[in-house]
Amino acid sequence: MDCIFCRIAGGEIPATPLYRDDDVLAIADINPQAPTHLLVMPIAHHANIGALSDAADAALTAKLFAVASQLGRERGANGYRLVMNTGADGGQTVDHLHVHVLAGRPLGWPPG
Ligand code: AMP
Ligand code: ZN
Repeated sequence: MDCIFCRIAGGEIPATPLYRDDDVLAIADINPQAPTHLLVMPIAHHANIGALSDAADAALTAKLFAVASQLGRERGANGYRLVMNTGADGGQTVDHLHVHVLAGRPLGWPPG
Protein backbone atom coordinates (compact mmCIF):
# COMPACT_ATOMS: atom_id res chain seq x y z
CA MET A 1 0.00 0.00 0.00
CA ASP A 2 1.38 3.38 -0.98
CA CYS A 3 0.02 5.87 1.54
CA ILE A 4 1.52 9.35 1.65
CA PHE A 5 0.66 9.90 5.32
CA CYS A 6 2.17 6.53 6.30
CA ARG A 7 5.30 7.64 4.48
CA ILE A 8 5.29 10.96 6.35
CA ALA A 9 4.66 9.22 9.69
CA GLY A 10 7.47 6.78 8.89
CA GLY A 11 9.89 9.61 8.12
CA GLU A 12 10.25 8.64 4.46
CA ILE A 13 8.81 12.00 3.36
CA PRO A 14 10.06 14.94 5.43
CA ALA A 15 7.53 17.02 7.35
CA THR A 16 7.89 19.20 10.40
CA PRO A 17 6.03 17.60 13.31
CA LEU A 18 4.07 20.12 15.36
CA TYR A 19 3.18 17.34 17.77
CA ARG A 20 4.25 13.72 17.87
CA ASP A 21 3.98 10.84 20.27
CA ASP A 22 3.85 7.08 19.77
CA ASP A 23 0.28 7.22 18.48
CA VAL A 24 -0.43 10.60 16.89
CA LEU A 25 1.33 13.05 14.56
CA ALA A 26 0.39 16.65 13.70
CA ILE A 27 1.82 18.47 10.68
CA ALA A 28 1.04 21.65 8.76
CA ASP A 29 -1.18 21.19 5.72
CA ILE A 30 0.81 21.74 2.52
CA ASN A 31 -2.07 23.74 1.00
CA PRO A 32 -3.41 25.81 3.92
CA GLN A 33 -7.03 26.99 3.76
CA ALA A 34 -6.72 29.27 6.82
CA PRO A 35 -3.88 30.99 8.71
CA THR A 36 -3.74 27.86 10.86
CA HIS A 37 -4.33 24.62 8.97
CA LEU A 38 -2.94 21.53 10.64
CA LEU A 39 -3.52 17.83 10.11
CA VAL A 40 -3.65 15.45 13.07
CA MET A 41 -3.36 11.78 12.17
CA PRO A 42 -2.83 8.45 13.84
CA ILE A 43 0.60 6.94 13.14
CA ALA A 44 -1.16 3.63 12.40
CA HIS A 45 -2.99 3.48 9.11
CA HIS A 46 -6.77 3.75 9.35
CA ALA A 47 -8.50 4.81 6.14
CA ASN A 48 -11.11 7.01 7.80
CA ILE A 49 -13.06 7.52 11.02
CA GLY A 50 -15.31 4.56 10.20
CA ALA A 51 -12.30 2.25 9.94
CA LEU A 52 -11.00 3.50 13.27
CA SER A 53 -14.44 2.98 14.80
CA ASP A 54 -14.47 -0.54 13.39
CA ALA A 55 -11.09 -1.13 15.00
CA ALA A 56 -12.69 -0.05 18.29
CA ASP A 57 -9.54 1.71 19.45
CA ALA A 58 -11.19 4.08 21.89
CA ALA A 59 -7.89 5.28 23.34
CA LEU A 60 -6.55 6.27 19.93
CA THR A 61 -9.82 7.98 19.01
CA ALA A 62 -9.74 9.96 22.23
CA LYS A 63 -6.12 10.94 21.78
CA LEU A 64 -6.69 12.08 18.20
CA PHE A 65 -9.43 14.45 19.35
CA ALA A 66 -7.52 15.55 22.43
CA VAL A 67 -4.48 16.56 20.36
CA ALA A 68 -6.59 18.22 17.66
CA SER A 69 -8.64 20.25 20.14
CA GLN A 70 -5.53 21.21 22.12
CA LEU A 71 -3.84 22.52 18.95
CA GLY A 72 -7.04 24.35 18.00
CA ARG A 73 -7.30 25.92 21.44
CA GLU A 74 -3.67 27.04 21.33
CA ARG A 75 -3.87 28.55 17.85
CA GLY A 76 -7.46 29.73 17.58
CA ALA A 77 -7.99 32.46 20.14
CA ASN A 78 -11.43 33.17 18.65
CA GLY A 79 -12.32 29.58 17.91
CA TYR A 80 -11.37 26.82 15.53
CA ARG A 81 -12.85 24.03 13.45
CA LEU A 82 -12.08 20.32 13.37
CA VAL A 83 -12.99 18.54 10.12
CA MET A 84 -12.78 14.94 8.97
CA ASN A 85 -13.57 14.65 5.30
CA THR A 86 -14.71 11.09 4.71
CA GLY A 87 -15.09 9.34 1.37
CA ALA A 88 -15.60 10.83 -2.07
CA ASP A 89 -18.69 12.92 -1.25
CA GLY A 90 -17.02 14.03 1.96
CA GLY A 91 -14.13 15.45 -0.03
CA GLN A 92 -11.48 13.06 1.27
CA THR A 93 -8.40 12.99 -0.97
CA VAL A 94 -5.93 11.15 1.28
CA ASP A 95 -7.23 7.81 2.56
CA HIS A 96 -5.36 7.91 5.86
CA LEU A 97 -7.53 9.31 8.64
CA HIS A 98 -6.67 12.88 9.56
CA VAL A 99 -8.38 15.68 11.44
CA HIS A 100 -8.06 19.13 9.88
CA VAL A 101 -7.54 21.89 12.46
CA LEU A 102 -8.55 25.24 10.96
CA ALA A 103 -8.26 28.58 12.73
CA GLY A 104 -7.21 32.18 12.36
CA ARG A 105 -10.12 33.58 10.34
CA PRO A 106 -13.91 33.40 10.50
CA LEU A 107 -14.88 30.16 8.78
CA GLY A 108 -18.01 30.12 6.63
CA TRP A 109 -20.92 27.73 6.97
CA PRO A 110 -22.13 25.65 5.20
CA PRO A 111 -18.72 24.47 4.04
CA GLY A 112 -19.78 23.70 0.45
P1 AMP B 1 -8.54 15.54 2.63
O1 AMP B 1 -8.83 16.12 1.27
O2 AMP B 1 -9.52 15.85 3.68
O3 AMP B 1 -8.24 14.05 2.48
O4 AMP B 1 -7.20 16.24 3.12
C1 AMP B 1 -5.94 15.93 2.64
C2 AMP B 1 -5.08 17.11 2.97
O5 AMP B 1 -3.73 16.69 2.91
C3 AMP B 1 -5.21 18.28 1.99
O6 AMP B 1 -5.63 19.43 2.71
C4 AMP B 1 -3.81 18.43 1.41
O7 AMP B 1 -3.45 19.77 1.21
C5 AMP B 1 -2.95 17.77 2.47
N1 AMP B 1 -1.69 17.21 2.01
C6 AMP B 1 -1.49 16.41 0.95
N2 AMP B 1 -0.19 16.06 0.86
C7 AMP B 1 0.43 16.64 1.92
C8 AMP B 1 1.78 16.66 2.39
N3 AMP B 1 2.77 16.01 1.75
N4 AMP B 1 2.06 17.37 3.50
C9 AMP B 1 1.08 18.05 4.14
N5 AMP B 1 -0.21 18.06 3.76
C10 AMP B 1 -0.53 17.37 2.65
ZN1 ZN C 1 -1.52 5.44 5.81
